[in-house]
Amino acid sequence: MWVELFSVFLFCYKKVTESSLILVTFADSKGLNACFYFVNLSNSPLNILLAIESSCDETSAAVCRDGEILSNIVSSQLQHSEYGGVVPELASRLHQQQIVAVVQAALKEAAVSQKELDAIAFTRGPGLLGALLVGTCFAKAYALGLDIPLIDVNHMQAHVLANFLSEEKPSFPFLCLTVSGGHTQLVHVRDYLDMEVIGQTIDDAAGEAFDKGAKIMGLGYPGGPVVDRLAKEGDPTAFAFPTPHVDRYAFSFSGLKTSLLYLLKRGLKKDPEFIEKHKADICASYQYQIVTILLEKMRLAAKDLGVEHLAIAGGVSANSELRRRFKELCLAKGWKAHIPAFAYCTDNAAMIAIAAHHKLQAGQFASLTATPFTRVGKE
Ligand code: ADP
Ligand code: MG
Repeated sequence: MWVELFSVFLFCYKKVTESSLILVTFADSKGLNACFYFVNLSNSPLNILLAIESSCDETSAAVCRDGEILSNIVSSQLQHSEYGGVVPELASRLHQQQIVAVVQAALKEAAVSQKELDAIAFTRGPGLLGALLVGTCFAKAYALGLDIPLIDVNHMQAHVLANFLSEEKPSFPFLCLTVSGGHTQLVHVRDYLDMEVIGQTIDDAAGEAFDKGAKIMGLGYPGGPVVDRLAKEGDPTAFAFPTPHVDRYAFSFSGLKTSLLYLLKRGLKKDPEFIEKHKADICASYQYQIVTILLEKMRLAAKDLGVEHLAIAGGVSANSELRRRFKELCLAKGWKAHIPAFAYCTDNAAMIAIAAHHKLQAGQFASLTATPFTRVGKE
């Protein structure tokens, strides 16, 4: 029978987490017809998230649309350098001063208005309590004011997921070495939100080893990038540093730091110019040993787990020697190497946004009573 379909239009389109209700009306020779459809639009570009990071000394905000980063503004608190490390009280106050401007800049760069936001995400921990409280309270107030859901993000999981901001994404399961100023972890990543820490440091973090080493050489804070730069001019075999003997997947860097201290003391006794004359060689040798320790543990864990994809993450993954030798190791073993872009290695809100995107997909939200946690395992 001949049917004349002369109007079909969407009548109603309402977001209900995963599905959308659509009412289609049309008229034909028999009169007006209407039907409702529930269609799964979870892969459609529906979700616009604002993410906030304030765990340590970076105030950052990012906007993400369905997993795509539209903006990522990072304000680094350079004021800590004159104290040789992060001063927690100062960090909280600087976050308070910066957060509104940083969020406004992120919305502006993304060309997104507050009204368009579907959810707000924040770093809940680990980190400095006062610093975390600023981001947490800001996110809660924003969620309450706009009447949108709140999503809490674990900072360490977000570092791992920064690898999904690259064009080439890791395949599950993979092994990630997360190395930052406060943590050193070997993580078995089974899915976006299914991760297990299989090894970590028993004393200092890798970033701390860089920072404290640089501090005792008088190179300023944060020391990682300075050591990296000076090491490029030096000989990595000039000085020998010890290999720690700890459990299979555990790390230890405090012995390395003590060994550096004694090397400098011995050298300065003979020559007051020792550090100045040898700083490139000392940095190259010290960095070489940190990277050797990290990659040896990673090699062991990857072999035991039988994974084919390996990733690095966190501030220390910006280190040029680690990046180079990690790629070399993977090439030699036939593993696929994943390294985040420089902007996504150190603390940033884009990684919080991508983690929140996956929590949103999984329907995992935070309550307005959520409180920050300062240490891994205390959430
Ligand atoms: P956290 O999450 O602990 O605050 P980040 O993930 O922002 O730390 O990483 C900061 C750490 O990364 C610092 O210890 C810093 O020295 C280190 N870092 C940054 N760039 C480099 C580099 N090029 N080489 C080595 N370490 C680096
Ligand atoms: Mg970090």
